[in-house]
Amino acid sequence: MRLSRMQPSKTHPCLRRKVREDMKTHGILVDYKWCSGCRSCEMACQMEHGLPPHRSGVKVLEIGPWQIDGETWQYDYQPVFTDECDLCKERVGKGKTPTCVKHCQAFILEYGEVDDLVAKMNGWKKRSLIVP
Ligand code: SF4
Ligand code: SF4
Repeated sequence: MRLSRMQPSKTHPCLRRKVREDMKTHGILVDYKWCSGCRSCEMACQMEHGLPPHRSGVKVLEIGPWQIDGETWQYDYQPVFTDECDLCKERVGKGKTPTCVKHCQAFILEYGEVDDLVAKMNGWKKRSLIVP
């Protein structure tokens, strides 16, 4: 069911409450400008959750390299979070940070409240906010 297509007046109150309860309050801020493509995040997630090598809560994409013009090149690594990601619910429940955040070699992943992370995106290039 696509809630975005439903008229508010036609949405049952119980359903509206359920949507609010499901709204995520936490996420991960990715400062991917500095991602080295080491894939430690992928492996840490697989080990934490017992997933086989082709599955993970996060996959790192390689974009480029290609020359745009002169000395300008497109060449980035970008971690993309998948439907396997539960934001390390169990670890976080014990007061720990998500394991991909802990094992990121470049310290470019930050777990926190969405409102705080949104504030940190302001004015920065090559940052993405993940709310799985
Ligand atoms: S937050 Fe946890 S479940 Fe999600 S990608 Fe990172 S390690 Fe995997
Ligand atoms: S561990 Fe950090 S630096 Fe390495 S690929 Fe993942 S996000 Fe990028």
